Amino acid sequence: MQTDLVAALDIGGTKIAGALVDDHGRILLRAQRPTPAKEDGDTVMRAVEDVLRELTAAPLWVRAGAVGIGSAGPVDASTGTVSPVNVPGWRDFPLVDRVRAVTGGLPVELVGDGVAMTAAEHWQGAAQGHDNALCMVVSTGVGGGLILGGKLHPGPTGNAGHIGHISVDLDGDPCPCGARGCVERIASGPNIARRALDSGWRPGADGDVSAAAVAAAARGGDKVAIA
Ligand SMILES: [Zn+2]
Repeated sequence: MQTDLVAALDIGGTKIAGALVDDHGRILLRAQRPTPAKEDGDTVMRAVEDVLRELTAAPLWVRAGAVGIGSAGPVDASTGTVSPVNVPGWRDFPLVDRVRAVTGGLPVELVGDGVAMTAAEHWQGAAQGHDNALCMVVSTGVGGGLILGGKLHPGPTGNAGHIGHISVDLDGDPCPCGARGCVERIASGPNIARRALDSGWRPGADGDVSAAAVAAAARGGDKVAIA
């Protein structure tokens, strides 16, 4: 049997995305569900299983040789568990075992989503050809990952380079991770929008209060948005 595809799974606070990917990085099939982030752990897992079932039901699935997971963190790759800050129902949740159970015992690799994104950027994207890089992603949270000496550096637990929970304002707002003034608490998409509104920024006529709207206002010269 030719197993030239990898099943990819992206677990975020907003959506759960799956794909079958070939050895050139091309996405041959996609599946996606919203993350029921406020629900209990089993309900969140059911959304993951729905995504995986859409992949395993496809004729292409016979070519899948492994599963790769990038999950919102923190993760623990050494135990195969995840505790995403934005998914309270999952604390030390045995995601690797649960995914293996629905994917026919294929090998499963887990890293933090920032580390997975960094691997992709080094292979196909902005960090191509660079032996040392910090890649960052700004969405529901702020993630990151490291390329050191030409290689992905996930660290022992799969979280290395996660810049989102580095404290940059010791007197700043409390963060769900337990620290104060984390990068994520200031600069994630929802927090960019929240801080702009708290500082007096007002949305345009379309009423859009997203981080993208704040960025557009900043480009247009709005002083509060720029700050
Ligand atoms: Zn934090």
